Amino acid sequence: MALGIKFAQIIPLFPYRVFMQWDLIDPTESGSYTFTIERSGSSAGPWELLQAGLQNNYNHIDDFRDQPDHPVDGKINLFSLQRQVYYRVTVVPPSGCINQAQTDPQGLYRVSAGPLADGLRRRLQHDEAIIFQRLNGVRLAVLKRRRWGERCTMCYDVLTKTVTKEHCPECYGTSFKLGYWDPVVTFGRIYPPNNVMPQTTSKDKKEASQHLITLLDVPMVQDQDLIVEIDTNERHRVESQKQTELRRKSVHQQVTTSLIDRGSVEYELMVDTREVPPLL
Ligand SMILES: [Zn+2]
Repeated sequence: MALGIKFAQIIPLFPYRVFMQWDLIDPTESGSYTFTIERSGSSAGPWELLQAGLQNNYNHIDDFRDQPDHPVDGKINLFSLQRQVYYRVTVVPPSGCINQAQTDPQGLYRVSAGPLADGLRRRLQHDEAIIFQRLNGVRLAVLKRRRWGERCTMCYDVLTKTVTKEHCPECYGTSFKLGYWDPVVTFGRIYPPNNVMPQTTSKDKKEASQHLITLLDVPMVQDQDLIVEIDTNERHRVESQKQTELRRKSVHQQVTTSLIDRGSVEYELMVDTREVPPLL
């Protein structure tokens, strides 16, 4: 199958920024992937180039403040944009342009959601961020697992397509160099095992360490991503994720995680969030 790319989410970070995240489909090549991001007022174009030559990333933030034709004068922001905004992303794999792929154009707002839903969503996102920050939340670092890129040179076996080292310092068991993407700092609430309904009657040790985490909706997490409690350095592996929706717009996500044992390779990963401001 040929390489493909699709959006995982396009979410407004009111009032000036838009966060977008994508997934690659069948990224079989090992090496560096390059991305181009474009924006348009129409799904048919014309397309305005926002970023070219972006190497190896799974997300991009379109910041309206960065753009000379969208000055921060209190007038132009996401609330005042009357028209729809569309994005598209093109990926070039290590083998070059001949194998490139492009997302379908995707709008920021769903067609069915009007201004009220957008205002409500923004309000909820804001409230939730405040609640998480001030009342019962903890600071979390979300580390998305690498699912494409340069394969591990120390332990990846090309023939069996598996990792051969349990404690690999290059891929941390993911088979890809560096293992995880840079951390994104967010806020969430962690419900300890006592509050989690047991999923099965199995006496499996993993069941005992299952937690439920509610966190803000950017970035969207997937199975096997890492969530690190910044204050305690406790590390969780995501087992499943579901969105909480408001008129088809999610404001937070709920994930079931298993707490990783301290001796595991995931604890050897350096997670430095000092230079990373929270997204919201
Ligand atoms: Zn490795």
